[in-house]
Amino acid sequence: MIFTDLAIADLRFPTSLSLDGSDAMNPDPDYSAAYVVIRTDAEDGHEGHGFAFTIGRGNDVQAAAIASLRPYVVGRPVAAVLADLGGLWRDLVHDSQLRWLGPEKGVMHMAIAAVVNALWDLRAKREGLPLWQLLSRLSPEELVDLVDFRYLSDALTREDALDILRAARPGRAGREEHLLREGFPAYTTSPGWLGYDDDKLRRLCKEAVADGFGQIKLKVGADLADDVRRMTIARQICGPDYRIAVDANQRWDVPTAISWMRELAAFDPYWVEEPTSPDDVVGHATIARELAPIRVATGEHIANRVVFKQLLQLDAVSYVQIDATRVAGVNENLAILLLAAKFGVPVCPHAGGVGLCELVQHLSMFDYVAVAGDMRDRVIEYVDHLHEHFVDPVVIRRGRYVAPTAPGFSATIHPRTLSEYAYPDGPVWSSTASKQVAHAPQPRRAKEGTNHG
Ligand SMILES: [Mg+2]
Repeated sequence: MIFTDLAIADLRFPTSLSLDGSDAMNPDPDYSAAYVVIRTDAEDGHEGHGFAFTIGRGNDVQAAAIASLRPYVVGRPVAAVLADLGGLWRDLVHDSQLRWLGPEKGVMHMAIAAVVNALWDLRAKREGLPLWQLLSRLSPEELVDLVDFRYLSDALTREDALDILRAARPGRAGREEHLLREGFPAYTTSPGWLGYDDDKLRRLCKEAVADGFGQIKLKVGADLADDVRRMTIARQICGPDYRIAVDANQRWDVPTAISWMRELAAFDPYWVEEPTSPDDVVGHATIARELAPIRVATGEHIANRVVFKQLLQLDAVSYVQIDATRVAGVNENLAILLLAAKFGVPVCPHAGGVGLCELVQHLSMFDYVAVAGDMRDRVIEYVDHLHEHFVDPVVIRRGRYVAPTAPGFSATIHPRTLSEYAYPDGPVWSSTASKQVAHAPQPRRAKEGTNHG
């Protein structure tokens, strides 16, 4: 039994035409997926689905990067590859020539994420389990074999990781039951887009509280007076003890982050997210030190586990925001979950975009059951957008993610969507307006953007 095909689709959703929201750095994204379907000659007919999330232009570059990985999959034996996804991860990441394009960051690394995640989807489907449950039932030894400790061992060794996983093992079954019964806490970013007027902000804050969410997040960073006014409204509506996080989407340099957030400190922000460049580890440490007790969160643009390690070593973050497709897939996120557990920092994943909620819920649930063993102070971002394109969409009930039970990684997109949103020839893209947006960079609009988590 071998892998027979690794098909790639350039899917784009014209979200920039109907701006539902906004952030300070991403004014016109067309949510996109460089989408992978891996097929085998097995009689069960299962396929592995995965994707890299991008925001429009460049999705073709992302797709080309994924295509360069085909030789690592097509023609190889299915059982052997799926039984050693740690080995495959190392093969992909350490390709002696492709590695030059990173190393371990950016387009090539995200391509590896798409392929690795598709293989995990296939393995979970073949084993008849949702991915979170499949991972939660692996032994500590099997789990550490999935991780490359080469650049982590000054902070996290294989033995450290085994200790963490073994310590969590006795409670696994009870936490799995608890998760199936109660779900996992979510927070919503929906009220907080910069482009919404004050009435809409008020209405959506009320809805978030009424819907059972224990936390919202507001986009900030474009205009301080606007931020003060919007935080005033949100605090009035949600009440004094409600969690209101803010997200600057990398808008500031370090001194500006500090001075701006001091102006917002009176509103008791729960965390400040992406205050500055995701590469600036020391800058994050400075911001965290200067703004304490306001907590700093980041991760959706952190390139790899090595940068996460440094952020943790320097006490630069209070929340680790893993992203399912930014680093090289499940294996690298497992490394980051272990690092966060070692440093005692909660993981609160980034989601939104297209399909990111579907994927990352599995990683948080696995973290709860088998790694950190703790749900306190953990919350998964939720954005109510584009879920209808997925065969196994996320389910939110009373402000919590319901644990998925369908086998796989919840990554499968409906066949109809694959044809309708194919770029540039699918019917959705045949309209002139859509093509204009996609083909030409738009001038930056100061206060608009879309719902980018
Ligand atoms: Mg964000």
